[in-house]
Amino acid sequence: MSPIPVLESCIPLPIEERTLVEVTQKAKDWAIMHGAAMRSKANFSPDSLNFAPFILVPSSFPRKEFEKAKHLQTIINQLMHNVAHDEEFLTTTLAETIKVDDFTANLFNVYKKVLANGFGQALSLGLLRSDYLAHMFEDNSIKQVEINTIASSFGGISTQMMPLQSFVMRELGHVDKLKNMPENTALSGICGGMIKAWELYEKPKAVILFVIEDVSYNICDQRFHEFYIREQSPHIHVLRRTLTEIHKEGKLGPNKELFLGEYEVAVIYFRAGYEPAHYPSQDEWDARYMMECSRAIKCPSIHYHLAGTKKVQQALAQPEMLERFISDPEKIKAVGQIFTGLYSLDDSEAGNASYEMALKEPERFVLKPQREGGGNNVYGVDIPDALRKMNRLERAAWILMDLIQPPISKGYMIRPGGKSPPEIVDLVSELGIFGVIIGDVDNIIWNYQAGHMLRTKLSTANEGGVAAGLGALDSPYLLD
Ligand code: ADP
Ligand code: MG
Repeated sequence: MSPIPVLESCIPLPIEERTLVEVTQKAKDWAIMHGAAMRSKANFSPDSLNFAPFILVPSSFPRKEFEKAKHLQTIINQLMHNVAHDEEFLTTTLAETIKVDDFTANLFNVYKKVLANGFGQALSLGLLRSDYLAHMFEDNSIKQVEINTIASSFGGISTQMMPLQSFVMRELGHVDKLKNMPENTALSGICGGMIKAWELYEKPKAVILFVIEDVSYNICDQRFHEFYIREQSPHIHVLRRTLTEIHKEGKLGPNKELFLGEYEVAVIYFRAGYEPAHYPSQDEWDARYMMECSRAIKCPSIHYHLAGTKKVQQALAQPEMLERFISDPEKIKAVGQIFTGLYSLDDSEAGNASYEMALKEPERFVLKPQREGGGNNVYGVDIPDALRKMNRLERAAWILMDLIQPPISKGYMIRPGGKSPPEIVDLVSELGIFGVIIGDVDNIIWNYQAGHMLRTKLSTANEGGVAAGLGALDSPYLLD
């Protein structure tokens, strides 16, 4: 096997020990003081923050691929918008999955009920994040890992990462390198989408509702959004409520307005509702249904949520499928190139063939259920055991995906309670591009690319979720 390529680092490493210890401590304080922080899971207190895990100096990423990902985002926004509005496609694609996956079935059930009752609001707000790994076996060209249509997070904190790492680079005497660190406007881009949706609702007193978990560990990221909206548009109030609270307090008005106490809700921004634990009882499902029926503009609405499932991603990657949603052949080609192999595990001829393929060469694949939030996938050699535990029908809840193999970079991962001085480690980075789209089935009113995030994990780790505690926030150093 050829050795795994290592991307050139932005500055010569290692950093001399005394300088390293000093700059690391400054960077940690910078992070806390600028809200690049989270609540501790181990020592939870609503009154204190830890800095969010971060990479000390920016990790290298190929410039060409970064630009490509940004350029593609408006096409991906439009694609997802069209998918979300294709009832027939969603229904057939998810038909086998919902027979065995209760959570997706519950979401689908909400969708069907809303379809039967009529949508209270034709407009949807999509705040998407398309995630990529560079694939080293194809000249580091990017491959899409997944697309998030609900609770696409870290736009707030990621906006602080380039300033944090620029501070470190200046401290280390590398001002000349700052030009390769792209600015990030994720926070203003995403919040701009919420404000635009609020304006389209045309009720000056209506509020934006953040649907939150019972405990928000990623509080800073959420507050960045809230505080940005409050600062830019002080006339727009932001409420935070759990699904359980919405069930207790929420009511629909005569014209399907969603009321929480005295407040009418213009925009609903879901930062919860994407995993089964967020719905401890039927009450939370009832709350979701009520919101979906309402006139409020949802981010996402239920059909956008379903369009973001892994099963839909798998279906979209099948030959000729993009033609259903995109008319321009150039765009079809460009989007097709970022897909990697995705295979159905339904009980069909093709599904059974992918099952056999996974048993034979498991190290080539990742096995994914219809879940979000990290830590749910099965990798490589663990796949055969996992698959053998399922019957033919149960497999339909999963999809199989080619393993993307990103190039390695070297750097320092700084974590609360980590070693001092930190050690140089092998890292791989996942790029996320945010997109905003607002429209209804016939018209798109806004469609733009809205900044990026980079998160980086140890090259030996399968997953790098920051909220899940494995990855670290980062920003790209663009290599020509
Ligand atoms: P989730 O909805 O849980 O975020 P993802 O599809 O993003 O699910 O998978 C979680 C993580 O697993 C990704 O962030 C990435 O690190 C890793 N991963 C997922 N798919 C692949 C793949 N095809 N090749 C390599 N790593 C992958
Ligand atoms: Mg993910």
